Amino acid sequence: MSVSTRARALIAADRKLTEEQIPPPRPPAPASAARIIAIANQKGGVGKTTTAINLATALAAAGHTVLLIDLDPQGNASTGFGLARNARGRGMFSVLVEGAPMAEAVRGTMIPGLTLLPADPDLSAAELELVSAPQREKRLKTALDDWADLHRHHFVIIDCPPSLGLLTLNALMAAHDVLVPLQCEFFALEGITQITQTIEAVRQRLNPGLSLHGIVLTMYDRRNNLSDLVAQDVRGFFGKKVYETVIPRNVRISEAPSHGKPLLLYDFRSPGSQAYIRLAAELVERLDIQPDRAA
Ligand code: ADP
Ligand code: MG
Repeated sequence: MSVSTRARALIAADRKLTEEQIPPPRPPAPASAARIIAIANQKGGVGKTTTAINLATALAAAGHTVLLIDLDPQGNASTGFGLARNARGRGMFSVLVEGAPMAEAVRGTMIPGLTLLPADPDLSAAELELVSAPQREKRLKTALDDWADLHRHHFVIIDCPPSLGLLTLNALMAAHDVLVPLQCEFFALEGITQITQTIEAVRQRLNPGLSLHGIVLTMYDRRNNLSDLVAQDVRGFFGKKVYETVIPRNVRISEAPSHGKPLLLYDFRSPGSQAYIRLAAELVERLDIQPDRAA
């Protein structure tokens, strides 16, 4: 089913049309096929959460079954789905620190095929609590491995916090791929070295199946020469690792979270929505081309 067909279904859902008009999601993914993608960059404000929310939504709109994990104590991905702090119930703190089963914390969203594992308000204490916990860097991986529904998913998207602490390390241990959002700004290349070195260190020592799947340029402003220079620089350095799709700076993107909706529901026709739909399509296409996923 094409991206646009499912996207139309999303609009239908938004307009509260009848159930029959919404195409059914794809059949469940085959056993252990879930592709686990961490959205990471130690810098804040580069578009991790925006990318996590809208990529997850666009993948679900294209018919994939997706779980979005909010691993940032700020909980912006949870708020972005209209889930207020006091309404989150069990979330990632319970799973990582208290060992709660994933099934108790995963909940549905307004998007067919997309579920959310929220950041509970306690998650800010997790970095500290995990320091003395056994298997502290593997807690998320273990939780995912123990989750009976994992195989029903095509994608798990993890929104990481803006640091390289134990929470991000848990994401990199559990993931097959890392997607790094990079804001088109002056020090972009300096900032990216730290995350690429971390990915390499984790790959060598802890998770040999991990790879930097790609870098996505965000907040691109075509009226600004600097955006172009940064894009050229990053492409010159990272070559094909940089997705062709570029996310434009678009005010609708920053408005959507305050309405508690992903951008695709808030304004489907906005340039930002269209860019995230293209990014999802490019990601899927690249994954099909390079099926060398982790064991
Ligand atoms: P991070 O998760 O890396 O901290 P966010 O996704 O929260 O970054 O983005 C930081 C801020 O920039 C948010 O207010 C968000 O709404 C805004 N933003 C992100 N991407 C765009 C974009 N392409 N155009 C305009 N605003 C954006
Ligand atoms: Mg964030």
